[in-house]
Amino acid sequence: MSRRLVAATANRKKLDEIRALIGHLDVEVVAMTELGVPSPVEDGDTFEANALIKARACVAATGLPAVADDSGLEVDALGGAPGVHSARYAGVHGDDAANNAKLVAVLRDVPAERRTARFVAAVAFVAADGTEHVVRGTMEGRVVDEPAGEHGFGYDPHFVSEAAGDGRTNAQLSPDEKNRLSHRGAAFRALLPRIEAAFRD
Ligand code: IMP
Repeated sequence: MSRRLVAATANRKKLDEIRALIGHLDVEVVAMTELGVPSPVEDGDTFEANALIKARACVAATGLPAVADDSGLEVDALGGAPGVHSARYAGVHGDDAANNAKLVAVLRDVPAERRTARFVAAVAFVAADGTEHVVRGTMEGRVVDEPAGEHGFGYDPHFVSEAAGDGRTNAQLSPDEKNRLSHRGAAFRALLPRIEAAFRD
């Protein structure tokens, strides 16, 4: 059996995180873009629905098992926004600088104690035979005005997690630290037994 797993993402940073999270499995992680799989329309209302849409599209196009992550930031003072719209909060998909500028602007009058937020990741694994699993991981924290740090992507420079415990933003965590504490890390670890089992069979 082929030991290739398709990752349903075009985001290089996410791909690096995914490779690190399942690197010990002796499975080659190939990005959907490398295989020419077009990005499907992510029109689900939940992270779980969108993760499944992406993973199913990869399996349908390649016949290989696939993992997909759909993730975002939920800010309590914004009623959970940007949520599933996190990647295009300011209008252009993946424009991190514009998304962060908008987030800071809309939270201008919100005091520090009401800046609570969480990263959420739903990770779906669809086996070559169509069997589906989807799990959710979260990372609690708060949004800060001043960006800090060079690592990570997206909202990381403006997010201080509870788990870090020392006021560092996600972008100030090393890649290993972030994977240990993150929503994506938690979801992938919960899903690992399923992925392992599929490659054992
Ligand atoms: P997706 O690619 O549709 O799942 O969009 C996820 C979006 O949520 C990204 O573009 C980021 O803006 C945000 N996001 C998700 N996970 C993270 C993270 O670990 N750090 C920072 N931003 C994240």
